[in-house]
Amino acid sequence: MTAANNAISIERSLNKKTKPAQDQLGFGIYFTDHMFVMDYSVEREWHNPRITPYQPIVLDPAAKVFHYGQTIFEGLKAYKTEDGGIQLFRPRDNFARMNRSNDRMSVPELDIDVAIAALEQLIAVDQDWIPDLPGTSLYIRPFVIATQATLGVSPSENYQFIIIMSPVGAYYPEGINPVKIHVESHYVRAVVGGVGEAKTAGNYAAALKSQQAAKEEGYTQVLWLDGTQHKYIEEVGSMNVFFKINGTVVTPALNGSILAGITRNSVIQLLKHWDVPVEERVLSIEELYEAGRNGTLEEAFGTGTAAVISPIGEMNWNGEKLVISEGVTGQLSKSIYDTLTGIQTGAVADPFGWVKKVEVSEG
Ligand SMILES: *Cc1c(COP(=O)(O)O)cnc(C)c1O
Repeated sequence: MTAANNAISIERSLNKKTKPAQDQLGFGIYFTDHMFVMDYSVEREWHNPRITPYQPIVLDPAAKVFHYGQTIFEGLKAYKTEDGGIQLFRPRDNFARMNRSNDRMSVPELDIDVAIAALEQLIAVDQDWIPDLPGTSLYIRPFVIATQATLGVSPSENYQFIIIMSPVGAYYPEGINPVKIHVESHYVRAVVGGVGEAKTAGNYAAALKSQQAAKEEGYTQVLWLDGTQHKYIEEVGSMNVFFKINGTVVTPALNGSILAGITRNSVIQLLKHWDVPVEERVLSIEELYEAGRNGTLEEAFGTGTAAVISPIGEMNWNGEKLVISEGVTGQLSKSIYDTLTGIQTGAVADPFGWVKKVEVSEG
């Protein structure tokens, strides 16, 4: 891509939306005034980067994304700091993961610097959409779709890379609260060699049925076991999962079917920084239940961009219930939550170099 066709054109919205109240945001309901779009063709590769008013996209009904699910997405957040600045949390890691997902799904790679520059410019244009009530943030959803209008099962020759943004509310408006988890022993999320480690749509569609059944029984999330033996712990819903057993924090090792969460990696780095023993290894549901029965299971929590930390207060595996940390948020879970959210919003120093300030002068 040459410098000339690399320049981002900006078409500003002529009718700005009314912003929702900051205590009514929810998650992914409202979208900002603009979006970023870039096209791919075999001849021109990625080209025509542009910021346009947020609007519907028009696609041919034969576009491959509708039929064969050739699509990937990312999720990250921008935060307002106390002094009015704007910062992103580990954006380079998100776009690096996007390229790993792209590779798995035969989608052409994106230039990470171009993607970050596009995001920063979009944030500058929509900077007044970043909420500043405690716990709120601007959720960013980059995604790629296969747009070639042919029904042959083959990688698309055309794509669009799009970034949309949504102001989101505090995940825990009434304070951080433990959730109840259903251990899924029939359906599976992913198998080794499949697409579990790619952030691709099909993984989430395949999870809906199990999640729905769990909800009907009063459980917020599903804990997934491995796809072949239904024995080893993988993840919780769309979060990675950690257990504090006898003073050591254990999380399933990345094995090819688990999504490599950036929050997961941040928690591991933070625990090492604090000299808390942390292990990435295989962990069976039987070992976990044994620790629960003999009193050595001290805390459990999920990790992901949306909630940051989601403490687990109860699990149910084939009817056997396990109450963890007396159903309240454990001390370590709370410390990790406070520290990570503190770094993200600039209230706590960042010794890891995770935070990236966004320049918005030309907004
Ligand atoms: C996105 C995601 C996570 C969490 O990743 P973060 O980078 O921490 O947000 C975990 N599991 C699945 C399946 C996911 O899609």
